[in-house]
Amino acid sequence: RTWRESSLPADMLEAIAKQGYEKPSPVQMQAIPVALSGRDVLGIAETGSGKTAAFVIPMLVYISKQPRMTKESEQDGPYAVVMAPTRELALQIEKEARVFANFLGYRTVALVGGQPIEEQIYQLSKGCEIVIATPGRLNDCLEKRYLVLNQCNYVVLDEADMMIDMGFELQVESVLDAMPSAFLKSENEEEAEKQERDRHRVYRTTILYSATMPPKVERLSRKYLRRPVHVII
Ligand code: AMP
Repeated sequence: RTWRESSLPADMLEAIAKQGYEKPSPVQMQAIPVALSGRDVLGIAETGSGKTAAFVIPMLVYISKQPRMTKESEQDGPYAVVMAPTRELALQIEKEARVFANFLGYRTVALVGGQPIEEQIYQLSKGCEIVIATPGRLNDCLEKRYLVLNQCNYVVLDEADMMIDMGFELQVESVLDAMPSAFLKSENEEEAEKQERDRHRVYRTTILYSATMPPKVERLSRKYLRRPVHVII
């Protein structure tokens, strides 16, 4: 299979070609069409599988469908948030996301611990479409109102099992609960489908990647993902 067959917009195909990604990896082949269709993704995939691009590419397509941010609408915060367990991983994701995002004219900000918060506050003040963060620093910024999530309806939880192992469960949940779409989920298939048909409601796309699926990750998924499509690599 090729990128051309993936029904991605032309500028995205250009960005991918510029990165030198000749063909989609298995996780990209499976997860990108699902996320593009607006469905939630529950992915079991390891680092090295290409999962970063698998969530970054559809996230940017989603952003490209939102109104262009203005100085005024920037005040309502980013369109998308990615959470990862460690600084290293968050910075690595930000690096890859930034290449694609900048090519398309979007901005990323990394919010991680262990680095001066002043610089991060300054970056936030310039506005961005995407925040990539560790849960601790992100919560800090939300509590101190350096950041709001009034228009964030796209969220990625990367390495969810590690985030839980590191004790970030409540912090992850409190970020998700700060999003405007927090109330939008139904366990009931019929009700969920009805909700989806209601064009006046705002939906959140939630993407969760984990290497393993312990009960706590399953619980998180049941609570925050709506009828996810399982992608298992
Ligand atoms: P990840 O699993 O997201 O950490 O990605 C592993 C590495 O594979 C990263 O260095 C990416 O830049 C690279 N990569 C991701 N997707 C592709 C692709 N379709 N073709 C070639 N390399 C890729």
